[in-house]
Amino acid sequence: MHQSDHEAWNAKNYPGTRQLCADCGEPTGRCEDDSIYADDDREIGPLCEKCRELRINPMKVIFLDVDGVLSSGGAEGLCGTRLDLFAKVIREAPARVVLSSLWRHPHCTEQRMLLQRELRRRGVELHSKTPIGPKGRANEIRAWLAQQEPGSIADFVVLDDDPSEELAGLKDHLVICTSHDGLTEDIARQLIARLNRT
Ligand SMILES: [Zn+2]
Repeated sequence: MHQSDHEAWNAKNYPGTRQLCADCGEPTGRCEDDSIYADDDREIGPLCEKCRELRINPMKVIFLDVDGVLSSGGAEGLCGTRLDLFAKVIREAPARVVLSSLWRHPHCTEQRMLLQRELRRRGVELHSKTPIGPKGRANEIRAWLAQQEPGSIADFVVLDDDPSEELAGLKDHLVICTSHDGLTEDIARQLIARLNRT
């Protein structure tokens, strides 16, 4: 039976027995007979398709700062060479991009749209952005990580040009460039090596 037929069959024959995903809590659209798990022992689950995919293939994430990394300052400063390098990192890691730059704020919508366009031209999508909180960048990154489904993040790096004290708590994940040079070939290699370690 196809999954869609199975769903219809379940809805007709087992109304009210809607199986919920153990990770995200959403209905899986499945019943006991066709439940899916992330492991052979059927301990991690039952799961929905999306959560199983994340369990089997957890994400690598780069938290991206833009000014001093991809831009030498503002939208006009976005650098083609750095964007090309960044796209290469994302492809080779491969990783998802989570924006943690000032550019995610509502007053930077135009800059963000431009960044999005430039990345998309290079085959890279922005996956998400960190929440905007009162307690600084490191806490916003932690808050974003805490919102993810268990087991869905394989590893992450924080790419920044500002080795501030508040980021020190994430030092095992920090890759720092200088605000003068931004993302260089050397830093790109470091990022790829770092994300392929796991
Ligand atoms: Zn789920």
